[in-house]
Amino acid sequence: AKAEGRNNYQFFTRNISERAIKRFAMEGNLRRAIARDESALYYQPKIEIATGRVIGAEALLRWQLQSSEIISPAQFIPVAEESGLIIPIGEWVLRQACRQNRAWQEAGYPAMPVAVNVSAVQFRDKHFLELVSRVLQETGLDPSNLELELTESVTMQEVDTTIGLMRSIKDMGISLSIDDFGTGYSSFSYLRRLPIDTLKIDKSFVQDIATDPDGAAIVSAIISMAKILKQKVIAEGVETPAQYEFLRQQGCDQIQGYYFSEPLPAEEFEARFLREQVA
Ligand code: C2E
Ligand code: CA
Ligand code: CA
Ligand code: CA
Repeated sequence: AKAEGRNNYQFFTRNISERAIKRFAMEGNLRRAIARDESALYYQPKIEIATGRVIGAEALLRWQLQSSEIISPAQFIPVAEESGLIIPIGEWVLRQACRQNRAWQEAGYPAMPVAVNVSAVQFRDKHFLELVSRVLQETGLDPSNLELELTESVTMQEVDTTIGLMRSIKDMGISLSIDDFGTGYSSFSYLRRLPIDTLKIDKSFVQDIATDPDGAAIVSAIISMAKILKQKVIAEGVETPAQYEFLRQQGCDQIQGYYFSEPLPAEEFEARFLREQVA
């Protein structure tokens, strides 16, 4: 048992250091990626169920290596958050999304909000509000065409400070949505206090709709709750006609997901969803 214990211990430390090395390498690569401009934003349309029209887009970060391999944000965002790199990365994302949206408007396409994901570290940074207003000024984008997505877990920490910050963002004329909703156990009374426009139902519940009665019940409960609170509700991760149909019947306002489109590079988003709407 003793020998086994030691082996376990060695196994454990080796695993930790392998992880540390991987992390360290990832962090170095991330720094170089920023310097070399290897990142890009993809845009996924948000569709209004009642009209079938594209009424906005979410900007999603892609890290494209020179080998043309694409690394998922799920892998590198946590590393970027721990190392603080999320601050310059987040700034780049915000500026790029606002610049792109402004360029689309200058090209004559109908105005629509582009949503940017804001990580916890970025939201708590004391210069965040200043950054947002600087980027809006710099790019000339109207604040009503910017939406910020905050995860439910972010909004549940330091409640009073969070609500204050959210109010300031709303006062600037920016839209706010709660991302990954349903995963964070926020109470109805807390939710009432949040100055938000849209609740985004987490894709884990959406994907359970057809297979798990609980999943379907949770989704319809969130939709009813959003209606009572007079908030819009969007479902993410919609992949199948059955999921879409259920959401439509329940009165969900908007959908986002592969069923309609994957996230696309800016030029493709423009070709498929902006040019088409003008025509
Ligand atoms: P999220 O904000 O919840 O974004 C939704 C994720 O679901 C995206 O993954 C999107 O590509 C994916 N998705 C869209 N439609 C479908 C579908 O029908 N089925 C399935 N299975 N997935 C779908 P992605 O782009 O890999 O991003 C993962 C997460 O990384 C995001 O989750 C967000 O938390 C984070 N992230 C992405 N871009 C940024 C960014 O610019 N800043 C920050 N802070 N986080 C970001
Ligand atoms: Ca999001
Ligand atoms: Ca989400
Ligand atoms: Ca998510």
